[in-house]
Amino acid sequence: MIPFLDLKAINGQYSDELKQACSRVIDSGWYIMGSELTNFESEFADYCGTQYAVGVANGLDALTLTLRAWKEMGKLQEGDEVIVQANTYIASILAITENRLKPVLVEPDCNSFNLTPEGIKAAITPKTKVILPVHLYGQISPMVEIMQIANEHNLLVLEDCAQSHGAMIDGKKCGTWGDAGAFSFYPGKNLGALGDAGAVTTDDDELNEVLIALRNYGSHEKYKNKYKGVNSRLDEIQAAMLQVKLKYLDLEISARRNIAKAYTSEINNPQIILPTVEVESGHVWHLYVAKCTHRSKFQKYLMEKGIQTLVHYPIPPHKQGAYIEMSNCKFDISEKLHEEVISLPISPVMSLGDVRKVICAVNEFEI
Ligand SMILES: *Cc1c(COP(=O)(O)O)cnc(C)c1O
Repeated sequence: MIPFLDLKAINGQYSDELKQACSRVIDSGWYIMGSELTNFESEFADYCGTQYAVGVANGLDALTLTLRAWKEMGKLQEGDEVIVQANTYIASILAITENRLKPVLVEPDCNSFNLTPEGIKAAITPKTKVILPVHLYGQISPMVEIMQIANEHNLLVLEDCAQSHGAMIDGKKCGTWGDAGAFSFYPGKNLGALGDAGAVTTDDDELNEVLIALRNYGSHEKYKNKYKGVNSRLDEIQAAMLQVKLKYLDLEISARRNIAKAYTSEINNPQIILPTVEVESGHVWHLYVAKCTHRSKFQKYLMEKGIQTLVHYPIPPHKQGAYIEMSNCKFDISEKLHEEVISLPISPVMSLGDVRKVICAVNEFEI
């Protein structure tokens, strides 16, 4: 059986180092908001290329608290519009509605799965305040063009980098293009903790300060609360795990790229549409998402061959029970994608033999 993602094997590679780091925290007697967090924050900011990284409890909070901070800073108010792609994971939308902002869903490009400059331009109204590009499946959005639009229209840009740690255009990484980047370190992400964690990257001094307060009850100083904050802290053990994992992120990305390259050059079944990539460094292959008009048959066939696949995602946000108010919206491209996308196994611990097995099985599929 080829599992979709073998987390035990991925973390098993670093087992000794992870256990040492864990012991270091246990023995320190300090478990929340200490040196492990500040060390990880500065290493992650360096890795991305921003002035700051602020650790928070998870990726959803990274998105939600950044929008919240902009409200506290007077840059946003309730009812302002946020442009986001219709085919994203629901977390991107939840962060918007949690802040009583209005998600303006925009169809993605059906090949890159990301926002297009044309789509964004057509969705801008006088109420638009933020563009929230999601670098879906690990591929960075067209940030040069997006920043140009944002500058022309005086819009904030929040990059959802939950799937795209390390993806870059011309050497400039995701999370450094916009006003802020929101990252998730959920265990299955390309940089995964051994529990929940997230971070916001930014060069903005004020945003950094407000986020540091918001994640800790709105407090900069013990027992003084400037904002009605939340408890969204990244704990010391996870920060220690992430320091270990960050050292190997680039190696893991190149392993993923090699598998993607093999899939793309050797899968030649006309029933299966392969993902496209603009520039190699722009895709970190969190997921390898193909399309098949007979998806359920294809998925069942692969399962019988011992290959586990997943669907990211079976139901678009606007068709979820949580967003009943959007249930009448029609997004033809997104809805078609949700019916056809299928994610093939890809991970840094997949053997060459497993990659070959997937390629052969996919090529032998007949409808
Ligand atoms: C995983 C994910 C999130 C949320 O991250 P959590 O750490 O699970 O809260 C947000 N956006 C996207 C695109 C994601 O894939």
